[in-house]
Amino acid sequence: MSITVAAYATQSATENLAPFSIERRTPEKDDVSIDILYCGVCHSDLHYARNDWNFTIYPAVPGHEIVGRVAGTGSEVTSFKTGDLVAVGCLVDSCRTCASCEEGLEQYCDQGAVMTYGSLDYKRGKQPTLGGYAKNIVVNEGYVLRMPENLNPAAAAPLLCAGITTWSPLKEWNVGPGMTVGVIGLGGLGHMGVKFAHAMGARVVMITTSPDKGNDAMKLGADDVLISSDKDAMKAQRGKFDFLLDTIPVGHSLNPYLLLLKRDATLAIVGAIEPMDGFHAGMLLARRRRIVGSSIGGIKETQEMLDFCAANGVVSDIEMISIDNINEAYERMLNNDVKYRFVIDMASLK
Ligand code: NAP
Ligand code: ZN
Ligand code: ZN
Repeated sequence: MSITVAAYATQSATENLAPFSIERRTPEKDDVSIDILYCGVCHSDLHYARNDWNFTIYPAVPGHEIVGRVAGTGSEVTSFKTGDLVAVGCLVDSCRTCASCEEGLEQYCDQGAVMTYGSLDYKRGKQPTLGGYAKNIVVNEGYVLRMPENLNPAAAAPLLCAGITTWSPLKEWNVGPGMTVGVIGLGGLGHMGVKFAHAMGARVVMITTSPDKGNDAMKLGADDVLISSDKDAMKAQRGKFDFLLDTIPVGHSLNPYLLLLKRDATLAIVGAIEPMDGFHAGMLLARRRRIVGSSIGGIKETQEMLDFCAANGVVSDIEMISIDNINEAYERMLNNDVKYRFVIDMASLK
């Protein structure tokens, strides 16, 4: 049994997204049915739609920054009721029994988490999952977040991926007062990285390829701006950083950035999900530097981040679009022209 839902999908790596009907399962006893109000547009949506990672299942419906209202619940759902403002991020299920799931790190599930789009849902006959560019989604209650009512729901949508993906490594590597943190790339992830690192009390430097974004970076909470193409400026900042958050969406050389790190400092990759150029190992061993990676965040941590945002009035800086502008938004994203997250108003989907 299923319900038919209006959505936007692409049928191949070279086609635009276009209107499409999808099926959602009738809510099971522990499912929540959510009418989607807003969905953020992540660079991962573009990578997925265009098969950049070579695992896209077509038809593909991207979208994993979902905010909506509960339309109905299964008979055993206790945490949510019809009308609640809720959110869904990048994952919708996991094995629930492995060490990572038990620690609330479902994104690192040994079986592989069931992602909001692009997974074969192994608990439900390997159905391909379809994301949030749609009117409705049905999700197990354990993977639904409570969206604080005091946040603007459209501006809060990007917290579900751009927010948690930057929050989680900043927390894990104890960013705080007295530290100098560089955020590399001012897009959806980067602008949340700046806001969070600033809110955590660090001195924040925006490291960007776009000199014209400098003023915006300062308004978002950066204390300084470093233009990565300016070799002299980069040289002057060598050995000055405690932590770097690298959000660049494509493979790139790490060497210029590694040189910025102090002894024992860390560069966290959250952007490129693809093979990277080699790096000079001497840069690691000379100062005992570290390169780490981090993937989104677990359900518990995501709720903590949302509650922090509610208490501190943190949301994303967004440009609202109607869904028929999604293909143009992707092109602008490829041109680094996002200020600083597109969010789809799902009322525009008929
Ligand atoms: P975005 O909004 O397009 O921002 C990326 C920014 O990176 C651009 O605005 C640009 O900033 C900079 N940039 C782009 N191309 C570059 C290049 N060739 N060299 C140097 N800098 C470049 O993208 P996003 O939504 O923030 O996503 C960033 C990446 O994170 C994507 O690859 C996405 O798939 C990935 N991601 C990972 C996770 C995870 O779990 N780890 C979660 C979500 C997304 P400037 O103009 O300031 O240079
Ligand atoms: Zn994302
Ligand atoms: Zn697991």
